[in-house]
Amino acid sequence: MVSGYGMEGGLKKSRSCDIIIAGAGLAGFSLLYRAMQAGHWKDLTIIVVDKCTTSDRPTKNWSFWKRSTGPFDHLICKSWNNLSFFTNSGVRKDLDLNGYSYHTIKSQDFYTHCRAYLMGCKNISFIDDEILTITTEDVQCFLDTASHSLTSTYLFNSIYTKPRLEAETQYFLQHFKGLLIKTSQPVLNPEEAYLMDFRTSQEHGTSFFYTLPMAANAVFVEYTIFSKTVIAEREYDEKLSTYLRDVLKVREYEVAEHEYGVIPMTDHIFPRFQGNIINIGSAGGDTRGATGYTFTNMQKTISSILTCWSANGNPFFHSENISLKHKIYDSCLLNVLNSGEYKGNKIFEDLFMRSKASTIFAFLDAESMLLEDVSVIASLKPWAFLKGMTAVLSSRFKSFLR
Ligand SMILES: Cc1cc2nc3c(=O)[nH]c(=O)nc-3n(C[C@H](O)[C@H](O)[C@H](O)COP(=O)(O)OP(=O)(O)OC[C@H]3O[C@@H](n4cnc5c(N)ncnc54)[C@H](O)[C@@H]3O)c2cc1C
Repeated sequence: MVSGYGMEGGLKKSRSCDIIIAGAGLAGFSLLYRAMQAGHWKDLTIIVVDKCTTSDRPTKNWSFWKRSTGPFDHLICKSWNNLSFFTNSGVRKDLDLNGYSYHTIKSQDFYTHCRAYLMGCKNISFIDDEILTITTEDVQCFLDTASHSLTSTYLFNSIYTKPRLEAETQYFLQHFKGLLIKTSQPVLNPEEAYLMDFRTSQEHGTSFFYTLPMAANAVFVEYTIFSKTVIAEREYDEKLSTYLRDVLKVREYEVAEHEYGVIPMTDHIFPRFQGNIINIGSAGGDTRGATGYTFTNMQKTISSILTCWSANGNPFFHSENISLKHKIYDSCLLNVLNSGEYKGNKIFEDLFMRSKASTIFAFLDAESMLLEDVSVIASLKPWAFLKGMTAVLSSRFKSFLR
């Protein structure tokens, strides 16, 4: 049915369906794949809209720790049972994982696998186009691209736009460049990864390397910074080559892949539900403010949506995985980082040197009990944490008064 004109002046198609998936990245595809596999949406009509096709997406390596099985375990390309932490002065700590292990999934494997499966589902269709607007009214959702006007009952949105921030909101960026390098000589033990390696200068903010040996002569190294602004590309490159040369002692290598990313680290509260629009992924607040890790939190949100769907026939689950308590902890940490009085590398050093990694992981997965929270917080400087907490409480109080 023809209902209007697209941006190019061509005819615009109108279509209606039960569910729109706006954004077919990690969140959109995870949700749809898991819902279809579980048989929840087999009788519904679904339209997936994304501006990228599988081949033109940037490469991402999604890594996460876990101690139970997950829905995408079959796509894991490498796992590690040994993780280490290095302080800025070079002290190494081998982490006590207590049942946790660390894993990486390559985004291309994920997209290829999900898309192939979903293309085989007759109730799903794909539109490769840029989304221009998403709106909702009563129990209807509307999405427009230059070529299509779509209407649905539910719309799952993972299009991230930087939110309008309150004056007190912290908004750091976790920005990084990673290289997969191949060498003729073995570099590191492929069974041991460095979760955080602070053996680099801290001039640009909290800066560390994330070093994942993928094989005896292939290593993924990522130079990561927590700060308010990104740096020039050559500065990431300089730090990467210095680290490879001076710390890992690698002189000759070829770059097989690279990735660049910017992840928000913020205490902004993202709305989950707006009418029948359900925000998921980074757009729904599934990125942990203190770390930028998203993969695990997002899979838990999807589990909540699907459990609610199966019980009640709707996606409006009640309790968030990252609870208010954990959001306040994140906000505290971001306020402490912002004050600059307790440097990020010292915060992580105190944390990892004094607490068990398994307790930190449970804390960051928002699974920790109050006593574990206290033990994690007690490993940090108490005055800094109290100052951070005061800043959080006063900013929340101010926004409450507005
Ligand atoms: C390089 C990189 C590495 C990361 N590594 C990790 C990691 O190791 N562990 C971890 O937990 N987290 C990691 N993250 C954070 C997070 O897991 C990822 O950003 C993840 O992709 C977020 O999923 P998402 O679905 O919210 O967003 P995305 O995966 O980015 O999906 C959003 C989709 O929306 C589409 N889109 C955007 N705008 C429009 C538009 N206007 N019209 C149509 N389509 C649009 C995009 O093409 C994309 O497909 C990483 C992030 C980056 C950038």
